Amino acid sequence: MSTEKVETLIVGAGQAGVAMSEHLSNCGVPHLVLERHRVAERWRSERWDSLVANGPAWHDRFPGMEFSNIHPDVFVPKESVADYFVAYAKKIAAPIRCGVEVTEVRRQVGGPGFRVETSDGVIEASSVVAATGPFQRPTIPPVVSEMGGILQIHSNTYRNPEQLPEGAVLVVGAGSSGAQIADELMRSSKRVYLSVGPHDLPPRSYRGRDFVWWLGVLGKWEVAAPEPGTEHVTIAVSGANGGQTVDFRRLAGQGMTLVGRTESFKDGVMHFASDLADNIARGNANTLSVLDEADAYVVRNGLDLVEEPEARKVEADPQCVTEPILALNLAQATAG
Ligand SMILES: Cc1cc2nc3c(=O)[nH]c(=O)nc-3n(C[C@H](O)[C@H](O)[C@H](O)COP(=O)(O)OP(=O)(O)OC[C@H]3O[C@@H](n4cnc5c(N)ncnc54)[C@H](O)[C@@H]3O)c2cc1C
Repeated sequence: MSTEKVETLIVGAGQAGVAMSEHLSNCGVPHLVLERHRVAERWRSERWDSLVANGPAWHDRFPGMEFSNIHPDVFVPKESVADYFVAYAKKIAAPIRCGVEVTEVRRQVGGPGFRVETSDGVIEASSVVAATGPFQRPTIPPVVSEMGGILQIHSNTYRNPEQLPEGAVLVVGAGSSGAQIADELMRSSKRVYLSVGPHDLPPRSYRGRDFVWWLGVLGKWEVAAPEPGTEHVTIAVSGANGGQTVDFRRLAGQGMTLVGRTESFKDGVMHFASDLADNIARGNANTLSVLDEADAYVVRNGLDLVEEPEARKVEADPQCVTEPILALNLAQATAG
């Protein structure tokens, strides 16, 4: 049996694989895309039910196609995002083979190119593009080895509040995912503790323009990726509920208990760092730095964008921030 040969093999048909296919087609480079599941699979089966895109429809899309029947300012629901990528792949006639998993890629011995093992046989390729996505393997830091009857899940497998048993929930991490999930759980009447580490906290919009508009004009999309090993600071931004600035003080005011960074677990008690107030203050400083940069841009370019002084108002810290809980008995918390 002869081995299939392709010039360039793209592994993965998420948005990167589809975009790569378009660029290669435009350059006349023959290629094949292998996807182990379906196009844009992660948007379908590795996100929670209510997730919407973090950027509005005018922004979170390919240049060559708008979302049909969705207003440009809407934050698109995840299934529509996946449908959009499927439609786009069809529009550009991307040569995608679904249901084929790449299991191994090795350099050819004694010649150029690669030998690619797949669930559907061997392929030889001159070049291989790994478009298999970032953060592929969900990691739960080994803070808690066993939970003694308490359910512990990653945001990757969180779907909706009904999935969780009765009782309180501790959400660890207050980036975009953690903040949105904690908010959703609180809205479903659960008692929620949110462990907040260092984070950036951009405004959802400022002076009538969405945050992603500011990212564009301020050149933030062109910033070089940080060096490997450089500390990654998460960003708390959300398109949920029509798109609002993540506001930890508001969440606390509505009944959520904020705690510092989760540090350790011993004898049923979770221990938190005493860094909550610093983390909240750092987030606010980040908000103000974005506003400063935006204001400077407006002045520099003589733009007529309505001023928004109230965006600079910072409410007083709630009690859970001024007198933070440093330890939480999980069994007691979930029972109460
Ligand atoms: C909660 C959440 C919200 C997000 N919100 C947004 C947003 O609003 N806007 C935005 O632009 N981005 C958002 N992102 C980020 C976005 O989802 C990712 O950046 C994007 O999915 C990356 O695209 P990708 O093509 O690189 O990888 P992926 O989408 O992960 O695609 C990789 C593909 O490769 C396939 N694959 C992996 N291994 C193999 C293999 N061995 N063989 C064959 N196929 C394989 C997978 O099945 C998958 O389909 C969000 C991410 C998360 C987690």
